[in-house]
Amino acid sequence: MKMKHAIFAIAYMMLFSIPALAQDIDEEQLPYLWNELTAPDFVKALELSKGVCILPAGIMEKHGPHLPLSTDMILAREIASRAAKLEYALVFPEFYFGQINEAKHQPGTVAYSPELVWKMLEETCEEMSRNGVKKIIIVNGHGGNNELFAYFCQTQLAERKDYSVVFFQPDDSAVDEEIEELRLTDYGGHADEVETAMVYAVRPDLVHADRAGSQSGKDQARLAIPFGNTGIWWYASFPNHYAGDGSSPNKEIGEMNFKSRAEQLAELIQFLKTDESISSLQERFYKEAASPIETEQ
Ligand SMILES: [Zn+2]
Repeated sequence: MKMKHAIFAIAYMMLFSIPALAQDIDEEQLPYLWNELTAPDFVKALELSKGVCILPAGIMEKHGPHLPLSTDMILAREIASRAAKLEYALVFPEFYFGQINEAKHQPGTVAYSPELVWKMLEETCEEMSRNGVKKIIIVNGHGGNNELFAYFCQTQLAERKDYSVVFFQPDDSAVDEEIEELRLTDYGGHADEVETAMVYAVRPDLVHADRAGSQSGKDQARLAIPFGNTGIWWYASFPNHYAGDGSSPNKEIGEMNFKSRAEQLAELIQFLKTDESISSLQERFYKEAASPIETEQ
């Protein structure tokens, strides 16, 4: 009897002391950062994320005289991380191969050629897809990338893809008024009060607010072109690569912005996890585009 009991006891212990089986996915334990996952855990992360991955995009460029060159990367990464904690998704390492020709005259700017930027973007998405990511969300922290990513999304229709790319479009209108009330300055756009506040909320050690007034962040208005837009416009207006005044960063403003954007991004992740409408419409489109005459209705 004793022997039998012992066997039962051992069997019982084995049954309940074995760590979680491979199929068990513990959301709490699993990192969301692509680069912090082990290869076997990557497979689990893919399953948990339902193939949704965020590509946080920034740039290496001057942010006034007081913020780090990687400001846009810090912000995009923070929004992505906060959203992934709300609704699990994979988060790719920061993409800093964007459009930044207009800051080439400033120290520390890294401006790859347009061809290389395009190739990097294309192949990054292809590699994500090869690894099983079929829904890519671009979270952009750099204003100079907006046209690039919008055009990249349009080019997804040029030839068949087995994945979709969604460009996150946050709407800050819910917090705009509250932020306006807290703001001390009424102008901005780059390394300004709000952007400085956002960096301050995450990495106060990298914010040198005391230097923010050492250069002008006012519009220099050096170009008056009627009904037109040209590449040199930004340099004409903001040669210091600074638009605003980051002298008084308010953490509360930064937090409000992050919260609002992370919640919206989490909603987008949640939508994409179960959505099949984008992929089925894409498939239908590729098919019809391959033989437009046959499919004409
Ligand atoms: Zn920026």
